[in-house]
Amino acid sequence: MGKQPAFTGPFAPSEADLAQCVRCGLCLQHCPTYLQTGLEAESPRGRLYLIKAMSEGLIEPTVNVTGHMDMCLQCRNCEAVCPSGVPYGRIMERGRAEVLASGRAPFSWRLRALFLREVIARPGRLAILASALRFYRASGLRALAERTPVLRDRVALAPTITGKAFKRRGVLGQPQGAMKYRVGLLTGCIMPLAYGRVHAATVRVLARNGCEVVAPATQVCCGALHGHNGDLPTAMELARRNIDAFLAEEFDAVIVNSAGCGSAMKEYGDLLVEDSAYAERAQRMASRVKDVTEFLASLPLQPPEAPLGVSVTYQDSCHLAHAQRITDAPRDIIRAIPGVRFVELPHADRCCGSAGVYGLTQREMSIRVLDEKMRDIRETGAEVIATANPGCMTQLEAGLRRHRMNGRVVHIVELLDESYRRRGIRV
Ligand code: SF4
Ligand code: SF4
Repeated sequence: MGKQPAFTGPFAPSEADLAQCVRCGLCLQHCPTYLQTGLEAESPRGRLYLIKAMSEGLIEPTVNVTGHMDMCLQCRNCEAVCPSGVPYGRIMERGRAEVLASGRAPFSWRLRALFLREVIARPGRLAILASALRFYRASGLRALAERTPVLRDRVALAPTITGKAFKRRGVLGQPQGAMKYRVGLLTGCIMPLAYGRVHAATVRVLARNGCEVVAPATQVCCGALHGHNGDLPTAMELARRNIDAFLAEEFDAVIVNSAGCGSAMKEYGDLLVEDSAYAERAQRMASRVKDVTEFLASLPLQPPEAPLGVSVTYQDSCHLAHAQRITDAPRDIIRAIPGVRFVELPHADRCCGSAGVYGLTQREMSIRVLDEKMRDIRETGAEVIATANPGCMTQLEAGLRRHRMNGRVVHIVELLDESYRRRGIRV
């Protein structure tokens, strides 16, 4: 009699998904962890093999096996280049969910799931954590830690929390001129605490382009981090709450300025496909979700007229480029801004090492990947690094500090907003 499969729960990756990998290896040279280690077990093909072996009961989810799963950035670069169309992201999320549900997950996985569920998904508790991080920076403790060699790498990737939180709900922006669109805005969990300025810029840019911008009061965290880390039940619950919140109103689009959140929300239909009460609504919601760059590039964009006079490079956010397959829209917007010298970044589509909580759980690999990214950025000589996701912004800001480089990191909408506002336009 064969061994009992390690995966017997409701989230087991399907045989059809797993069978799609023909082991051609074409994805290997696109995988940041394979490039760093040269190890098959740290490659997409190797990890798919491990997940398949677990689902067939050939191996157990030992710490060794879960360690290889953990080392994956879930950047989905392998998925974007795979000629067989292997849905790597779905397989990895489901594999993690099965390990977590089996009761044989390492303690670190269970602790991480608890933190994401009980802190990240709860705005009150998250605000307390943000206040602690704000104090940590404002008191000079972080600067001190960054100058202390034994602590330097440990504190390098902590997010920067500055300024006031973006707490607004309801109607955030009125269209300038005639209203052309009514859009909902996902405000999210960490974004309003760490990058409230990006939300403010997003609202102004959308209003400048004829949108009424509304943030439904009952929306919650999108659930991306929970899904990536194997807590699919929490991801599903958060998805249902967002579907209720956003479908309660008539919106032309649901705008998201965080690539990781947008990619998770575009996959709500897949996440809830077996939930008879939500499956159809989840598909409807997913079809309305648009990354802010995707939405703006689809419009006759109000031309930005004030020149910025800066050199800009662009780091593709993995979940925008590989999961949502959006690479032209951000570049088109940057190029549309007068006075911007756009410099293409070598390996722009390769992960920066941020990957949600990866910088906290896999610090060493995260820093190795970041260091390579910063070498590429230095080569461009650009003064501004634009990107499309808060995790990437935090990681690249840490990279600038770590490598003592000048420059600033911005979300693309901030550049557009700067050009609009230099003409003295206020909305
Ligand atoms: S995931 Fe795709 S590219 Fe990678 S080995 Fe399998 S079939 Fe080939
Ligand atoms: S998701 Fe990224 S890190 Fe993970 S196997 Fe694919 S390319 Fe490698």
